[in-house]
Amino acid sequence: MFSKILIANRGDVALRVLRACKELNIKTVAIHSTADNDAMHVRLADESVCIGPPESSKSYLNIHAIITAAQLVGADAIHPGVGFLSENADFAEIVEAHNIVFIGPKPEHIRCMGDKIEAKITAKKLGIPLVPGSSGDIKNIVHAKAEAKIIGYPVLIKAASGGGGRGMKVAQSQDDLEEAFFSAKSESKAAFGDDRVYMERYLKNPRHIEVQILADKFGNTVHLGERDCSIQRRHQKVIEEAPSPAINKKTREYIGNIATKAVSKMGYLGLGTIEFLYENNEFFFIEMNTRLQVEHPITEAITGIDIVREQIMIASGLPLSFKQSDISINGHAIECRINAEHPETFIPSPGKISQFHSPGGMGVRVDACIYSGYIVPPNYDSLIAKLIIHGENRSHCILRLKQALKEIIIAPISTTIDLHKKILETKVMEDGSYDIRWLEEEFLS
Ligand code: ADP
Repeated sequence: MFSKILIANRGDVALRVLRACKELNIKTVAIHSTADNDAMHVRLADESVCIGPPESSKSYLNIHAIITAAQLVGADAIHPGVGFLSENADFAEIVEAHNIVFIGPKPEHIRCMGDKIEAKITAKKLGIPLVPGSSGDIKNIVHAKAEAKIIGYPVLIKAASGGGGRGMKVAQSQDDLEEAFFSAKSESKAAFGDDRVYMERYLKNPRHIEVQILADKFGNTVHLGERDCSIQRRHQKVIEEAPSPAINKKTREYIGNIATKAVSKMGYLGLGTIEFLYENNEFFFIEMNTRLQVEHPITEAITGIDIVREQIMIASGLPLSFKQSDISINGHAIECRINAEHPETFIPSPGKISQFHSPGGMGVRVDACIYSGYIVPPNYDSLIAKLIIHGENRSHCILRLKQALKEIIIAPISTTIDLHKKILETKVMEDGSYDIRWLEEEFLS
């Protein structure tokens, strides 16, 4: 097992990794920018190293500074967390070249799944059902028109290097195609430095359902069931739940088996999530995330498995501590992402939190990086807390969640707590009948 892990991240995920390390008796090293001098992950780590100014490119994305920090403190592994460098294959390779273990999959798998065009080609070979679409990148507008004719409108133009819902544009008909094609290209060039785009059929009313997998180096591959992440705004998840209200045991086994077979065929190592759209009882692969997901705690709640601990154990060469047959689903869990944003305009609201009160009681988990007196910096993602509720069943979970949302106080900055309260009052949330369009097109419009 490792003796010291450097956590190359910030916020709630840095704390999440830190807690798993403590339980495994591993020393922790926090890195931070000057904007995070007073951050909780810095306060709680055994050691910390300031690696640069507030801009992410000069700190949390600064590979040179991170490697230097790891060498300086003698870390034997680096956990990349979520976002930042967690899906950067070059970073994983550089870490390993310095005789430090990268806590994540093999660089070739990160690279392959990071390129969504290559990911789809690989998924097809592995027998995973795909959203109908182009087989490679779309070269020009003539090519785009020809592909759209084959696929059928509406179509979605997507960035090959996409992430966070960026570089994604819908064309309802040929009239919109040119605009969608060029704006997707320029948005992806600006966001990812890569203007390659591909095309998919734009599914009308799917749900977003993803399968959590874990694989060790001894050939044990398991899935931990699915998460339903259909409550989205701008293709970004707002509320997630597990299990999905739309899936029964048989369907769970069906898609779980497809996912585990595919990753074991790949020789994949570690933690991963295969994301699907689900419409009319059919699954369509959209992408694979080769890292920990923000919403992993809901799976932990219903399976009782510490996903981060398993991830660290696998990276250190140990076997998974359970088999597929040991996993059972217990109750229901829902996560609300609480962002420092106005609940109606979604304008970020960084600033000082002078009052923070955490909800409590059975089945209530708060993964947050905030405290009274904490100043939310304007430089990073606006996610400041995750409220994860576990109940005996879905309706019990919703009751507990409503109470927790009543109890939580984060003031005076604006947060999305009120948005969650309102969503929880809807009939659609009560009966779980939403799809990926519901929040934006019906609830918010
Ligand atoms: P990103 O990596 O940018 O998050 P994804 O491919 O994971 O992009 O898709 C994010 C979200 O965008 C999905 O959860 C879904 O809401 C929407 N989406 C993606 N592909 C399609 C599609 N073919 N049809 C309809 N919606 C889609």
